[in-house]
Amino acid sequence: MNIIKQLPPEQAQRIAAGQVVERPANIVKELIENSIDAGATRIELYVERGGHQLIRVVDNGCGMSPDDAHTCFGRHATSKLTAIDQLPGITTFGFRGEALACIAAVSKVTLITKQAQNELGTQITITDGVTTDTSVSATTGTDIAVRDLFYNVPARKKFLKKETTEWRAIQQLLQACALSFLSKHFTLYHDGRQITNCPPVTRLTERMAQLYTPTICKSIIPLTKQTGNGIQLTGAISNHHYFRYDRSNIFFFVNNRWVKNQELARALLKGYLNVLPQGRYPIGCISITIDPQQVDINTHPRKEEVQFLHPRRLTTLLTAGVKTSLEQHLSAQLKRTVTFAPSTETTLPTHPAFGPNTPSYTMPPMPPRPSTPTQPILSSLQTATPMPYAQSPIMENEEQATGTQLTADTGNNYAIIGQLQNTYILLEHEEGLFVVDQHAAHERVLYEQFRKRFGNIATIELLFPQMIELPQDDMALIEPHLELLQKHGIAIEPFGATQLRITATPLHAKHAAFDQLIKEMIGWLKDFNEIPGEQLYKQLHEKLHAQMACKSAIKAGDILPPEKMRSLLDQLYKCENRFICAHGRPTGWLMRTYEIEKKFKRIV
Ligand code: ADP
Ligand code: MG
Repeated sequence: MNIIKQLPPEQAQRIAAGQVVERPANIVKELIENSIDAGATRIELYVERGGHQLIRVVDNGCGMSPDDAHTCFGRHATSKLTAIDQLPGITTFGFRGEALACIAAVSKVTLITKQAQNELGTQITITDGVTTDTSVSATTGTDIAVRDLFYNVPARKKFLKKETTEWRAIQQLLQACALSFLSKHFTLYHDGRQITNCPPVTRLTERMAQLYTPTICKSIIPLTKQTGNGIQLTGAISNHHYFRYDRSNIFFFVNNRWVKNQELARALLKGYLNVLPQGRYPIGCISITIDPQQVDINTHPRKEEVQFLHPRRLTTLLTAGVKTSLEQHLSAQLKRTVTFAPSTETTLPTHPAFGPNTPSYTMPPMPPRPSTPTQPILSSLQTATPMPYAQSPIMENEEQATGTQLTADTGNNYAIIGQLQNTYILLEHEEGLFVVDQHAAHERVLYEQFRKRFGNIATIELLFPQMIELPQDDMALIEPHLELLQKHGIAIEPFGATQLRITATPLHAKHAAFDQLIKEMIGWLKDFNEIPGEQLYKQLHEKLHAQMACKSAIKAGDILPPEKMRSLLDQLYKCENRFICAHGRPTGWLMRTYEIEKKFKRIV
């Protein structure tokens, strides 16, 4: 008995359509791309109920003739490609002639379109495969409305995500479009309310200012331009003070096309190594210009993913770019922060694009050094009591340090209030209460010291060597890297097939739990198994510094007498990157007086 049947074309089309238009955001993307391909300079997007109810795109592009307005809904109907051999050189977004056919198969569509040379426009409606058309008065351009998505494919409709989820995806998409086409005017309405309005701009930072809150914009720094191997990277990223709990504000554009690519995302995050904590993400808008022969954009039916011919060249460049940008920003900032100018930043973004409840974080400046003497006082003090900051890079610009008040007994005085829960050091700050995390602070201090001393580490012989028992495959994994541990001052060697023996440790880290460290290192090696030799070495090296600092640092719960607190703070202020610990957590936090006063309802 024969069991194979040909599906009726309508049904086949609906099934096929589901691959291209899986969700409202895909439709938005296809429609906006069509508008861009049509040369529109103004694109309005109207969304109702997260796109489930309505997606409408109105543009001022070239419009379509009455005949084309009919044809455009046919399968493989495109004005952009006439022969397959044109594909490699294609510069438009669309070329498959699939989107409108698919959209019309699974929703109710109304199209109004007019070309400049025509008096009247054409209106077409398609519902349940029935097409009607009329002539209507219209402005030049195209207005296409997509209603009741999947009304005729219940199986798909069931799998549509919540309206809020779809709405977020649409917002992200519009942001991506706005970020890549600065010269176009984008507006977005949701349920009748205008959410975003982005008139044309000339610079990326201006565009970001239209999309993000002022607080977020303050955290944005330009990506230092990177070039190499025929690739050019430009863009903007958030600095080390800012993070989010999701990746939704990381955008990559390859030759101006928004793409998703895990390798690129990883490379970007790698640039923030030891700056952002695990599970926290920056904002990034990275534009990649690359020879089109080096990329394949057509791998994905929705053209969202890319493959690169030489991904490593690109990722290395990106990581380096992020690192350099952060470093340059930080060193510029360190010079500036000497004034400890009061910051007016709030900590939560309020812009709808992020949602009022989306957590984000901005680090306030550290408190002023308590004694911020004017020049003459400084010199008299220097003879009496050496200033603890004399060597500190942040003291280079003494001029700016003036202006804050001088306390009675200067020396190295901080107005330390005390220790809270044996974990935090509380300081009086001219703008409020400053809280230092003792572990994070000490970790930062040690991390920088370790880095400076690397290669010249004083070690201490252990009276009783420490033995670490490992499974054989872990032994095999770590053995090639014992030399690196030795460079970090840990005298370590294999002892039989399943044991390592530590005979000496760095003096400054003598209390660290080395067995844990070794096991963590094995974990990293497993994570990093695809990274080539030299990069692996660098990463391990960096992580070892951070982890040794963490393991040797005072812990939360350690009682600190005042002189220890003082000495820790002195050392922290000398640190180059004193705002964050080696793992990227903040070392200190300012609670401003006005926030305290607000709590007590002294001010409203
Ligand atoms: P593709 O974009 O791959 O060509 P689509 O199904 O998205 O396929 O669109 C089919 C055709 O309809 C396009 O090639 C274009 O000629 C026309 N078209 C679609 N949207 C617009 C628009 N907003 N303005 C002008 N023409 C459009
Ligand atoms: Mg298209």
